[in-house]
Amino acid sequence: MKTQIIKIDTSTSNWDKQLDQAAEVLRSGGLVAFPTETVYGLGANALDEEAVKSIYRAKGRPSDNPLIVHIADTAAVKDLTDSIPGTAQALMDAFWPGPLTLVMPRSSLVPDIVTACLDTVAVRMPSHPIASALIKKAGVPVAAPSANSSGRPSPTLARHVIEDMMGKIDVIIDGGNAEVGVESTVLDITVDPPVILRPGGVTLEQLRHVLGNVISDQTPGISDMAGTPKSPGMKYRHYSPKATMLLIQGDPEKVAAEISKRAGLYHKEGTAVGILVTDETAGLYESSLYSYCKILSLGSRKEPKTLAANLFRCLREFDEKGVEVIMAETTDIRGIGQAVMNRLMKAAGGNIVKL
Ligand code: AMP
Ligand code: MG
Repeated sequence: MKTQIIKIDTSTSNWDKQLDQAAEVLRSGGLVAFPTETVYGLGANALDEEAVKSIYRAKGRPSDNPLIVHIADTAAVKDLTDSIPGTAQALMDAFWPGPLTLVMPRSSLVPDIVTACLDTVAVRMPSHPIASALIKKAGVPVAAPSANSSGRPSPTLARHVIEDMMGKIDVIIDGGNAEVGVESTVLDITVDPPVILRPGGVTLEQLRHVLGNVISDQTPGISDMAGTPKSPGMKYRHYSPKATMLLIQGDPEKVAAEISKRAGLYHKEGTAVGILVTDETAGLYESSLYSYCKILSLGSRKEPKTLAANLFRCLREFDEKGVEVIMAETTDIRGIGQAVMNRLMKAAGGNIVKL
């Protein structure tokens, strides 16, 4: 399949005209990757069963992992749902458009393939101008998982999508960097109090501010990888770089010493090592390490948003550099840090050393 790449700069006039053709591709059953404020999505007409099937094929995604349906107007919720839970309005008012996905009772309009036969549907209204304009022009709800091959780190730049999807989909829209850098928060509002099924761009603290009581299902760990979780996608190994990954948690000086020691040993064996640090801790590593390890900073601990924004790009950069083992510091789990730790734990397959 020939994949067309369309580069769009939203600061130019009439940029949205460049989306006409991609909208037509969506309407006629094709696949379009597009930027959102969280990560790049791989979209198909959510009401077209065959089109949605081709998303699973292009990604190699297990069919029991349901998709999020993206809309451009809150009015679309009523077509997709059977009944709208009482908490929905306050959440939509506070966080839409934005990185919050609401799980609600589904309507019969939504094909089984979208929801993996669950009796609920996950709905989100993205704030990215390209995502919003594309969905509006297509005139259909758009089912869209992240636009990576299943299991790999999510794409935050068009070149990540090109790496994974070239030749497999119809169109890739290059709209620059996806700012938030981690996926949306998935909140189940079919239960009271609502439960966070996946931490993401909207934090537990923000949700509690609006709703009072919200339960976070996500103690950062892999306990949710066993059994039958309510959100099937959470059980899979996810976001994984090709390298083996290990998290080291504890006092920053001790973490740096432990990582340095292990890096030396790996280096002796001839293993290519990557180290994921932060701006504040980078100075704790001996300068010699910088000569034989690939060391990347995730961002500043004082600005946790930067940690989320850079995470997937850093994981992919280690792969590009042929790193075989990545050792990473852990982060504070308050605010957006909860989503960052969740992704780090999954990327590492739960491999963590606590000092
Ligand atoms: P992705 O689109 O790749 O970011 O993954 C979507 C996430 O939303 C996965 O973790 C899914 O399991 C979850 N999800 C989608 N639909 C539902 C649903 N109806 N109920 C619970 N979780 C869902
Ligand atoms: Mg995904």
